[in-house]
Amino acid sequence: MNWSDLAQELGQQVTGKVIALAPMRDYTTWRIGGPADLLCNPRNEGDVITALKFAEEYGLPVTVIGNGSNLLVRDGGIRGLALRIEGGLDSVQVEGNRVLAGAGILLPSLSRIALRAGLSGLEFAAGIPASLGGAVVMNAGAFGQCLGDLVLEVDVVGYDGNRKLLSGSDLLFSYRTSSLQDQKLIILKAALQLVTETPFAIAERMEKNLAYRRRTQPLNLPTAGSVFRNPPGHYAAELIELAGLKGARVGDAQVSPKHANFIVNLGNASARQVITLIEMIKERVRSRFGIELVPEIRLVGEEG
Ligand SMILES: Cc1cc2nc3c(=O)[nH]c(=O)nc-3n(C[C@H](O)[C@H](O)[C@H](O)COP(=O)(O)OP(=O)(O)OC[C@H]3O[C@@H](n4cnc5c(N)ncnc54)[C@H](O)[C@@H]3O)c2cc1C
Repeated sequence: MNWSDLAQELGQQVTGKVIALAPMRDYTTWRIGGPADLLCNPRNEGDVITALKFAEEYGLPVTVIGNGSNLLVRDGGIRGLALRIEGGLDSVQVEGNRVLAGAGILLPSLSRIALRAGLSGLEFAAGIPASLGGAVVMNAGAFGQCLGDLVLEVDVVGYDGNRKLLSGSDLLFSYRTSSLQDQKLIILKAALQLVTETPFAIAERMEKNLAYRRRTQPLNLPTAGSVFRNPPGHYAAELIELAGLKGARVGDAQVSPKHANFIVNLGNASARQVITLIEMIKERVRSRFGIELVPEIRLVGEEG
């Protein structure tokens, strides 16, 4: 396929940007990943539908991404169409305690909007660099709270173009997961239920959470947040540290000396190096403690 020609053709049909052979390192917080054949960043819901029809017409596989803050894209990149729901689809309506927001808005912006509206519930999310869609799929959470607790309903479109409304209880939220993972569905918007409170109290809690992150996480280097889920009754970071792997390196991929459940990219880390480090951690924790660590990050794309 001539990806430049296809990018031009799709670019004429949508208002959002379309790029051929887009280096995924530019679209992931880890700054790692080979090229996506075609990357489309829809500006609105119409663009999403048009891009899906285009993919069907040309027989392109579809991969949906949000802000790329939980993604490891392999070095060979993504075949077909990568739909990046971030930046566009970001409208927000506040109606009483209910917030209806587009899937492309980032959680830090959404939590500030909630703060200004005097609505509590998203304080935990102020430092999570996720799109709302990615956060719903992952049931992003921190400080004992998670997005699934707030979701009333989501508006989704299937890769076949069919739209439907799903209620929060349809999404089977549990620790860092939902029934939306690995389904051929794209979240377009979500309705959240928040609680009225004074902006002062909300801001105070938010700042406390952000200060904790600054103190404990390597926010100055590219990462994808926590690499592993916490196993029942344990903290993954603690197990990795006890296994003697804090600071361990494979090429430019390093177990953060500040937080052992984060892998930092020291400059030019490849996906292969990160995967090798992940395997090394799993093996060491398994042999020392008999515990199987399960990755939280999502792996997409082809081997390089
Ligand atoms: C510094 C840092 C701190 C972090 N802190 C936390 C934390 O405290 N708690 C936490 O839970 N996570 C945390 N994370 C991880 C990450 O932010 C979350 O997992 C987040 O939910 C991912 O959202 P995203 O938009 O970046 O999605 P992506 O990483 O782009 O995608 C994640 C998954 O969601 C799917 N997806 C994305 N958007 C859509 C959509 N619109 N429709 C359908 N599927 C979609 C993708 O296909 C993929 O499977 C952190 C990451 C970083 C870098």
